[in-house]
Amino acid sequence: MKFTYIITKINKLIFLSLLLFTAIIKSQTQKPINIIFMIGDGMGVSQVTSAFYFGDSEPNFQKFKVVGLSETSSTSDWVTDSAAGATALSTGEKTYKRAIGVDQDSIALPTILEQLQKKNYQTGLVSLTSITHATPASYYAHVKDRDLHEDIALDLVKANVNFLAGGGLKFFNKRKDCKNLLNEFKKLNYNIDTLKLSKPIQNKNNFYLLAQDELPNKVQGRGDFLPEATQTALDYLSNNKKPFFLMVEGSFIDWGGHAKDGEMMVKEVLDFDKTIGVVMKFIKENPNTLLVVTADHETGGASIGKFMEKDPAGKEKNIKNKVQINFIDNQHTAALVPVFAMGKNQELFSGVYPNNTIYHKLVEALKKSGVQLK
Ligand SMILES: [Zn+2]
Repeated sequence: MKFTYIITKINKLIFLSLLLFTAIIKSQTQKPINIIFMIGDGMGVSQVTSAFYFGDSEPNFQKFKVVGLSETSSTSDWVTDSAAGATALSTGEKTYKRAIGVDQDSIALPTILEQLQKKNYQTGLVSLTSITHATPASYYAHVKDRDLHEDIALDLVKANVNFLAGGGLKFFNKRKDCKNLLNEFKKLNYNIDTLKLSKPIQNKNNFYLLAQDELPNKVQGRGDFLPEATQTALDYLSNNKKPFFLMVEGSFIDWGGHAKDGEMMVKEVLDFDKTIGVVMKFIKENPNTLLVVTADHETGGASIGKFMEKDPAGKEKNIKNKVQINFIDNQHTAALVPVFAMGKNQELFSGVYPNNTIYHKLVEALKKSGVQLK
């Protein structure tokens, strides 16, 4: 009798432990994921290829196992721009060229950054251009035209983004309306640094405005700002119980294409690849994180072709095992751009799809981690 009683007791205990175990496992798989979204502006397949032939070591691009292709057209033109391109990525809707965070009728669309703030996420934006430039702006601003930098700056005051690093100081303190928006940010518990990437203050928002407009490019001697700002953002955002969304832009890959400047393009791609390395290290230590790397469009119609050299007689000769970068144009192109994913729910990003689908894939990845945006 006593023996049976003990057995029943043990069974009950086993059952309860199992229930508890299942609940723990479920709560673990349901933990909201961190999202790191990296945009190589103007980065097509050839730009990525350049990292394989011009870098000193194996590119981090080679470490991705999940790859997709994104079609980048806008509603007003097949060949898009950074505004329509980034808005499709940030809102899930294709729109017209020059639009920032608005639809075809110039109506404001909620961005993934804003939606995640409502789900108790921290947020961060890192760019090499003005922080009011098309790509970062498409995550927090809603204006008809990308050139409305001063209006975009006003939207940033209201946006409560926790970590901001980039340029564009003049749109905040040398404005036509004579307002000094830096004072507004200070009132809103921001630590502002206009000189250097200092250590962030943990219980404040941090805003690094390190150039009047864009930062220097790599050829001009920017140094390691992009990997360092990304590391700083990750340290700051992960030093907290809350999940986070961080967008990092490698802005000047595009500028290299516009200038048809192969050296500039390669240096910017390698800098972006180095920054991907910083994020990959973070993912190893923080596996509940999803990294997506893509582009808003390709720039320059770049190709990696035969390296030609003139011999002493002036005859063109092909040099083997050497390549050169050629551009067909100094404009954006309609070429498909690559999408790379690593980390939690990475598998969602394989395939070929329109650019706005990437937003919906992020929504799906979040849903799998228990975060319901819609
Ligand atoms: Zn662009």
